[in-house]
Amino acid sequence: DLSKNFVYASSPSRVIFGKGTIQQLPSEISRQCLKAPLLLSTPYQVSQAETLKKILNGNIAGIFTEATMHTPTDITEKALEYAKSISADSIISIGGGSTIGLGKALSIRTGLPHICIPTTYAGSEMTPILGETADGVKKTRCDPKILPGTVIYDVDLTMTLPPSMSATSGLNAIAHAVEALYAQNTNPIISLLALEGTQALAAALPQIVNMPNDVEARTEALYGAWLCGLCLGSVGMSLHHKLCHTLGGSFNLPHAETHTIVLPHALAYNSSEIPGVMEKLARVLPGSDGDAIKGLNVLLGNLNVERGLKNFGMKEEDVDKAANIAVSNPYWNPRRVEKEGIRELIRRAWAGEQAK
Ligand code: NAD
Repeated sequence: DLSKNFVYASSPSRVIFGKGTIQQLPSEISRQCLKAPLLLSTPYQVSQAETLKKILNGNIAGIFTEATMHTPTDITEKALEYAKSISADSIISIGGGSTIGLGKALSIRTGLPHICIPTTYAGSEMTPILGETADGVKKTRCDPKILPGTVIYDVDLTMTLPPSMSATSGLNAIAHAVEALYAQNTNPIISLLALEGTQALAAALPQIVNMPNDVEARTEALYGAWLCGLCLGSVGMSLHHKLCHTLGGSFNLPHAETHTIVLPHALAYNSSEIPGVMEKLARVLPGSDGDAIKGLNVLLGNLNVERGLKNFGMKEEDVDKAANIAVSNPYWNPRRVEKEGIRELIRRAWAGEQAK
């Protein structure tokens, strides 16, 4: 839409994309004159961290394998002590949003350069945003210094992402693109990235669920995730992301699964105010017949994902609580955020009803 003025700020990070690209890590490290990186992973991805150590011929300061969901500050403090004790001069995070979150938390505290090697489609590597949990409360902050300086996307590392997680993580990425399309500060460049990213993921994800080791589909999905992550890092998010944040934080619901369930409902809520966006989205969602909501429902059906928040332990009485929290902090959204409508949106997502 060129009828409105806009600002486009490009992110300064360096991106290496492809298959087998982690082999370029040594040259990347010497390019930046680094000598003592600290590797980060979750306990489930230690073997991938060990692979990096081998690729670097053992030339690392150490490995910290306790990254965990929601970036709790006590784990960050522990990792920080460790980083100091081994005189790390840089941070390499290999994993999903949880590990990258720890990398960001360390990097912002120390000023050390951060190289990200993402293994999911969540997109954190492309954003200057950090969510941290202290005393059970998750707080999010945004600072250009949080944005990782280098990102290495290697399709090989995503081959082990289980099909169900690939599906929900991919929907998490699509959600970034959807909200970027109707963001108050969106622009034509971000719209291009959002539509291209959505198209790539919507085509690749069903293929991945059928054949998890299809390299071509995995490559297309990772490319889509990169573009969608850029959208998340570049423009403001609204109803969908705020709701997922509330639901995840207050009712301990899993991140990617919650995004997957809520997305069609949040889009349906906003649809009347964003006809142009609905049209564009419908064009990149297979089987939409010109209706973006139908396109999302078809996609979720093909991916065979859970549709109801109640399946993740949310109780019926939580619907009211969630609606109250969701309307308590005002923020910009294409449609006014009203209690009754939001309550009904959450109820439908809770019950697992189809969005319409
Ligand atoms: P995650 O990082 O929590 O990973 C989930 C699990 O999958 C972990 O056990 C992990 O070890 C495992 N895993 C990851 N990749 C794998 C692979 N290729 N093969 C096998 N197992 C693998 O999940 P996520 O969805 O990537 O991240 C969610 C977290 O990231 C949330 O806390 C969310 O708030 C945060 N996040 C932050 C931003 C941001 O911009 N700050 C963006 C997106 C997500």
